[in-house]
Amino acid sequence: MVPPRPPRAKAGRPAPRCETPLTLIFCAAEVAPWSKTGGLGDVAGALPPALAARGHRVVVVAPRHANGGADLARYAGLAEVKPLTGGGLTGGGSTGQGSAGQGSAGGALTGAQRPARVTLQLAGRPQEVAYYRHYSAAEGVDWLFVDHEAFRRPGTPYGDARGPFEDNLFRFALLSLAALEAPLQLPPADGGRPYCEDSNIVFMANDWHSALLPVFLQARYRPAGAYPSAPCALAIHNLAHQGLFPSHAFNGLSLPGGAYGLLEWRPPRAEPKKDEHGHSNDHGHGQPKINVLKAGITASQLLLTVSPTYAAEITSTPQEGGLDALLRSRAGDLRGIVNGIDTEEWGPEDDPHIAAPYSAADMRGKAACKRALQREMRLPGDPRAPLLGFVGRLDRQKGPDVILEALPRLAELGCQVVMLGSGDPEYERALSEAARQYGFFFRAHVGFSVPLAHRVVAGCDALLMPSRFEPCGLNQLYAMAYGTVPIVAATGGLVDTVEDVSPFGGDEGTGWTFSPPTPEALGGAVAAAVRAYRRRPAEWAGAARRGMQRDSGWRDAAAKYERVLLDLRSAHAPAAAQAA
Ligand code: ADP
Repeated sequence: MVPPRPPRAKAGRPAPRCETPLTLIFCAAEVAPWSKTGGLGDVAGALPPALAARGHRVVVVAPRHANGGADLARYAGLAEVKPLTGGGLTGGGSTGQGSAGQGSAGGALTGAQRPARVTLQLAGRPQEVAYYRHYSAAEGVDWLFVDHEAFRRPGTPYGDARGPFEDNLFRFALLSLAALEAPLQLPPADGGRPYCEDSNIVFMANDWHSALLPVFLQARYRPAGAYPSAPCALAIHNLAHQGLFPSHAFNGLSLPGGAYGLLEWRPPRAEPKKDEHGHSNDHGHGQPKINVLKAGITASQLLLTVSPTYAAEITSTPQEGGLDALLRSRAGDLRGIVNGIDTEEWGPEDDPHIAAPYSAADMRGKAACKRALQREMRLPGDPRAPLLGFVGRLDRQKGPDVILEALPRLAELGCQVVMLGSGDPEYERALSEAARQYGFFFRAHVGFSVPLAHRVVAGCDALLMPSRFEPCGLNQLYAMAYGTVPIVAATGGLVDTVEDVSPFGGDEGTGWTFSPPTPEALGGAVAAAVRAYRRRPAEWAGAARRGMQRDSGWRDAAAKYERVLLDLRSAHAPAAAQAA
């Protein structure tokens, strides 16, 4: 019988309130649950509320993606925000970040009457954007979704079956400008004073898609008198995607010519062969280029990434894409903070997607989830077969080929394997082919399905992550929260979050790590895990329980972000505040 859903033991104590709250303007290309293709969306959906819970005034600016990658219904009912009048902001308080209205560097208020829309100067002409808002006082985050025809098209937030959108530079430049303009031109959601009048504004850009924000801040806004002292932090969620474009694309950014050096790119080594979504983004070998992430790194005052080990890796080892030398030169400004997970969305006690709820205290529901997953994936309903799962983008980074090549070994070990993923069409084909060949123990679902991701994470005994590199990784955190033991490559954030179970027993460890990310090493780690699963069930259960008890929520991560953002703000405090 399925146990009743236990009461939810969630975040627990409320987060402590910060005594010197910041006004944080957070910009990202995707934000869960409105749009999500990967970990960036998860972080953008969860970190801002965790910071707001600590008393910060938080604004998130993301595109209103009207495409297949977004659940459009979620935008339904959001109201369009009309800008303040130009006069409403000019002459703001002396502690303000400067005046907007006609002085606004992004664009374009022309009259004293209430304008209908915000216009941003880009690609040599005014671009009209609308902002849609979601806000609840209880949560405290002002979610702003930028609407423009460039965000209204089928595909993912980044491209379609033919590859990345041709105008991605324009689209994400527009997003960055919209994030800079919103505090100047929009009435705040909380009814307080305009955001731009706060003296403690900090911007936070994420990945190359918003890395032009610090560039526009430096080259357009500060010279025009806006945000004279507001610093910008740039978070690198994945260094592999840099935003490379031919150098003449610079002309479309409406930046002063003097800013070209910020973007100019001469890679010291071989260049990335793939762009942000696995497509060739090499616009001609040897051609002069601009590199948006490089410019963002150079123009930002603080650099963040999503785990300490990844921070060490990207500054110490040659990186595909050649940014390691630049990052080394900025190592003193780089901090690695492991992501949290959204425990409201990911917790086996009350997950609406899974067959039965369970908790560390009562694991019966997990067996029901395993049975249900075996049934759903048309695998034999054997409770003793170790069921291994994979969820992720089908990209070389994630090593789906490593699992496929290890399948004969995994079959010998008596495992069942399920994979859920989408991405590179070659990997998609390889998964389907392997499912035909090894259907007696291997099943694959090619596609993107959040509910199925929950059922795989809950129903499997172990989750495989043979990543070739992994800035943080979220699936191992979800796995641990569900008592699913992670078996992961020893790289990046996986090193920082998965502690090895000792081969000699004992009560330490939450999973198995292996290196290098090869089918042989993966097979070896799975063999060790399967031995514990079959012969030392108490040890297995201990690893699963310790994973479930691990505090992976955003609370700790948000406290760390708060610390570094406060330090950043005080290092760039306005002169008046420093003198006081
Ligand atoms: P990355 O951001 O590099 O893709 P992360 O592990 O940080 O990797 O985050 C991936 C997120 O995307 C997780 O929430 C994962 O569950 C989700 N995800 C990836 N692929 C799929 C898929 N095919 N279906 C559902 N969710 C997926």
